[in-house]
Amino acid sequence: MRAYLKQPLVISTLVALLCGLLSLARPLDQGYWNTRYRFGQKPAPQSVVLINMDAEISGSDRQTARVLQAVAAAQPAQVYLDRKTNAASPELQNAIDRLGNRLRLVVRYAKQDTFEEAYITLPPPAIVPRSRIVASGWITNFWRYGVSTAATARVGGVTYPMLGSALAGRLGEADEEIRPDFAVDPRTVQQIAAERLLASRSAGAALRGKSVILKEPRSGPGVLVGYFSHGRIDPVYLDIAAGEALKNGDTHSIDWLPLIAAFAAIMFAVKRIAARRLRRAAYVVAGLGLLVGPALLDHIGITSNPSASLVGLTCFVAIKLWSKWQTQVLQTSRSGLPNFVALTEQPLPGQHDVIIAIVGRYEEIMATLPGDLHGEFARQIARRLAVGCGARHIYHGEGGLFAWIEPTRSLEQHIDNLEGLRSLFAAPLLVGKHVFDTNVHFGLERNHELDAVTRVNTAVASATEALKHGRTVEMFEAKRLANAAWELSLLARIDEGMRNGDIWLAYQPQWDYHEARLSGAEALIRWNDPVRGPIRPDEFILQAEQAGRIDALTYWVLDQAISAAERFNAFGPRFQISINLSAQLVDKPSLISSVADIVRRRGIDCRLLTIEVTETAGMCNRPAAIQNLMKLRAMGFRLSIDDFGTGEASLSYLAELPSDELKLDRRFVSKIVHHERERHIVASTINLAHALKQTVVAEGIEDLSTFELLRQLGCDVGQGYHISRPETLDQLIARYAALTKQGSTKLKSC
Ligand code: C2E
Ligand code: MG
Ligand code: MG
Repeated sequence: MRAYLKQPLVISTLVALLCGLLSLARPLDQGYWNTRYRFGQKPAPQSVVLINMDAEISGSDRQTARVLQAVAAAQPAQVYLDRKTNAASPELQNAIDRLGNRLRLVVRYAKQDTFEEAYITLPPPAIVPRSRIVASGWITNFWRYGVSTAATARVGGVTYPMLGSALAGRLGEADEEIRPDFAVDPRTVQQIAAERLLASRSAGAALRGKSVILKEPRSGPGVLVGYFSHGRIDPVYLDIAAGEALKNGDTHSIDWLPLIAAFAAIMFAVKRIAARRLRRAAYVVAGLGLLVGPALLDHIGITSNPSASLVGLTCFVAIKLWSKWQTQVLQTSRSGLPNFVALTEQPLPGQHDVIIAIVGRYEEIMATLPGDLHGEFARQIARRLAVGCGARHIYHGEGGLFAWIEPTRSLEQHIDNLEGLRSLFAAPLLVGKHVFDTNVHFGLERNHELDAVTRVNTAVASATEALKHGRTVEMFEAKRLANAAWELSLLARIDEGMRNGDIWLAYQPQWDYHEARLSGAEALIRWNDPVRGPIRPDEFILQAEQAGRIDALTYWVLDQAISAAERFNAFGPRFQISINLSAQLVDKPSLISSVADIVRRRGIDCRLLTIEVTETAGMCNRPAAIQNLMKLRAMGFRLSIDDFGTGEASLSYLAELPSDELKLDRRFVSKIVHHERERHIVASTINLAHALKQTVVAEGIEDLSTFELLRQLGCDVGQGYHISRPETLDQLIARYAALTKQGSTKLKSC
């Protein structure tokens, strides 16, 4: 029953009934009819002529009598004296008498909202017999617009016809209601000024055989009556319009209730049409019918108050549009499945976990599948998921994401279920004629205290992670949420760190075996975050690279390294500073101009700087990278291949990249003392590098035996904790200065 009450048609019918009962929508009627009569107006009947007496003429019996005489001379069919005539001078009486039966006296209701006789005053019978009296009065609406009159008026037990009925030549039934034909344009009623009639006899020619109304001037709010689409005018025009309506047959009116019934019946009938397109068309036709229907009925003399049914119609259309919009917002259009907005719209039920399934290669499949099958593909996945997990609703997000909620259970149970669910996707999906292998990964979210949107988003992040790492399920831990905020603002923090000194450069010295002295240092970035403590360079450099924001950091390092090179070289012997260049940046078109700007500004001899390049997948455009490296070398920089031996293409690097130095990775170096294999690799790499005229730097020398063995193998330069750990610039300079002063840059142990 309650569901029934929620139906759009029931709601709109109830609203319409309420509006009808409380007359709430009456302004709509007023607007409707005012608008309707702005169009399709017709000229007033030629059989009626209005003689307008001004205040002077109508205020004088003598003048009125003269007008009556002029009218009588023109031989009209009927004369209506529409003037307050409670007494008549002999002259006027004489004119009235001479017209005899052809004259009728119009008496008007003093108050027009009711037809009670208290509001009408009859002239003394001596002026005209009762049989020659016609009445006029109008029932008005809230805005004092005339809407209807009765066919007759009863005064003192006697019934008098109304002026409208008389003009139509009909004496209606006592209880008959007459509604004017507002299509009659009151501006087209034939009119002659009484003055003109008195001045020229020929003016009366137009009156022959007509119904002539001699009208006194009338004005004022209580007297004038509204006439749809023409504002307030003299009520005589309503009488003329009423006469016209009666000439066309009886007038009828329908109140709001039957129209609401019609609305409900029509819409109910349309609703039952099964074919969607046909139903839509029928709704449009029915809506238009309800809108223009009252105007068409009016054409055949049936007047109505369509406001309440129009309210019903508007309400119905509004609910339909709203629910359509809701459907669009809450459903993923192609699949017709509810989307994530629908899932997160309300708080999730307590003790339920959110599970997101992400379909691997979804976008690829979409790209190969015709557009009309996209929805079917998504629905098939949803069906398989629903079968496997038993959820009532599977929500479909963008990009191959599906979500549902499940009562909380142990993690093991969840993982078991999801493994089972995953195996359901071992069988390929058949969409139309297309067969697809798919796999799904899951994100699980169990932080019940979080809001629905955050829970779904975090589950999506977990599912994406699971897909990325090829795992069945990934669970989002609350502590990662705190990290996520930090990670997301990392770049702003890097900028801040460079400004306030949280980010700084450590320098690790390098030992020249041939000259037996400290000959250089590698600049290594450090970050001491006040909240998180020291952050490893690998960690934030990777993120800065991924966000495409490594540039600022690298140029800052270069600038700092130049300062360090200047300070070290001030002592005399040549001192080389190495910096690391991100592979992300090596192939960037802007690299050379940015570096050149810094070099120009700082006026440094580029030969004092070594640029280390690591081979990573980050280098996308190898020809551009080689071009850039050649340009850097042409500027004077030394180039070094860092971590040599770790990347897949180390040898091809060596063949392609212009370089001066090769840095043996510490993973080999650290093993040379105890592992023959690594020792051979390092020994032959040193020979290879020398053959290619490269300087060989060994990094990661942690003990004396490794240090000495490398010397025997012919290594040129050594770097590692055995020589020195990375330290601050000031520490290293102080040590270097002390050693230089002693005339030796030898470290104690070396
Ligand atoms: P890398 O360029 O290969 O730097 C050498 C790394 O080995 C440094 O780690 C250094 O502290 C460490 N190391 C040096 N001697 C020893 C040793 O005897 N034993 C051991 N176990 N380790 C040693 P760090 O400073 O953590 O840097 C790691 C990586 O971060 C660097 O590897 C480099 O690829 C990157 N990195 C550091 N600074 C920068 C920078 O300014 N820009 C860029 N793009 N990358 C940088
Ligand atoms: Mg390095
Ligand atoms: Mg290295």
